[in-house]
Amino acid sequence: MSQLSEIEALLGSQGRLSREQAEFLYAQAPSDWLREQADRARRRLHGQSAFYNRNIHFEPTNKCVYACRFCAFARRADQGPEDGDWDHGTAELDKILLARAPGSITEVHITGGVHPDRGVDFGEDLCRLVRGRHPDAHVKAFTAVEISFFARKSGLSLEETLKRLQAAGLGSLPGGGAEIFDPEVRRQIAGGKAPAQQWLEIHEIAHRLGLSSNATMLYGHVENFSHRVDHMARLRDLQDRTGGFMSFIPLRYRNENNALSHLSEATPEQDLRNFAVARLFLDNIPHLKAYWVMLGVPVATRALDWGVDDLDGTVDDSTRIYSMAGAEEKSPALSSARLQEIIRSRGRTPVERDSLYRAVD
Ligand code: SF4
Repeated sequence: MSQLSEIEALLGSQGRLSREQAEFLYAQAPSDWLREQADRARRRLHGQSAFYNRNIHFEPTNKCVYACRFCAFARRADQGPEDGDWDHGTAELDKILLARAPGSITEVHITGGVHPDRGVDFGEDLCRLVRGRHPDAHVKAFTAVEISFFARKSGLSLEETLKRLQAAGLGSLPGGGAEIFDPEVRRQIAGGKAPAQQWLEIHEIAHRLGLSSNATMLYGHVENFSHRVDHMARLRDLQDRTGGFMSFIPLRYRNENNALSHLSEATPEQDLRNFAVARLFLDNIPHLKAYWVMLGVPVATRALDWGVDDLDGTVDDSTRIYSMAGAEEKSPALSSARLQEIIRSRGRTPVERDSLYRAVD
């Protein structure tokens, strides 16, 4: 029996892929085979449903104490507005929230640079403000990297920090800051910021406190297939213990305006193969998201055939993280109707979800 047939039989009996098998799939599986297997796995989990939500992003600042080499977004804390930085707080968030009609959004996603002067009280203020203005909206906020810094700045443990944010209205954690967990790759692209172990620890504590979370993987830079599989294996192990991850979000490295601009980017074909392997390997994380803002609508649409069941949301032109790094979507905004149309174009049934993947009426 060939290795591919063995893997097909294993998947048919809903067995779990080993790391070696996942690496083999990345390197050698024919694309049609990968697409079919990932689509079958996706159908088993979600049937015809494909999800989206109505969300906005708020990026309080792009000042950052770190200098990740892949990042086109951050500015050093000593740079000024003429260098393209911004420094927003509750007043700016309030304006954005007031401009949205009650009930028009179900989620406010808040992430940004790691500002040197901001501790947990800043995060609490933002959470309270959202909950005050839009009591029905869910606050999905702060990467593990931001939470790690809040804790350090405020002299609190990671658990105390998360509990304070939760009490202020934090509903779940986004998946950012994960990049690639392998220590050597992480040192090369994001040296200095929260190490892999701490990223995982923060999510584990969050899950224990009843906060669900998401997980990303930045791929297509200096890592190899084995690093990607190692990254997903660490997530899969944690998920076996906690069950707290809702979705996995692969993010293609974009190569404009950063210190790694000499690298080329993954091709759409490689993006799609990556989605498929992720769907097959992460058998315990229910949702796989194609973040259309970063991928562009055409690739995100195709990804619905490669194991993906979620497109993220309307966004409403409220994020700059990927447009600054060269993403296709310079003013990202899609209406609910357009998201539904995209989903229907692949023969699927659109389901508006909330941040915890419950269907919205
Ligand atoms: S990726 Fe995040 S932590 Fe790294 S420099 Fe950019 S904003 Fe800062």
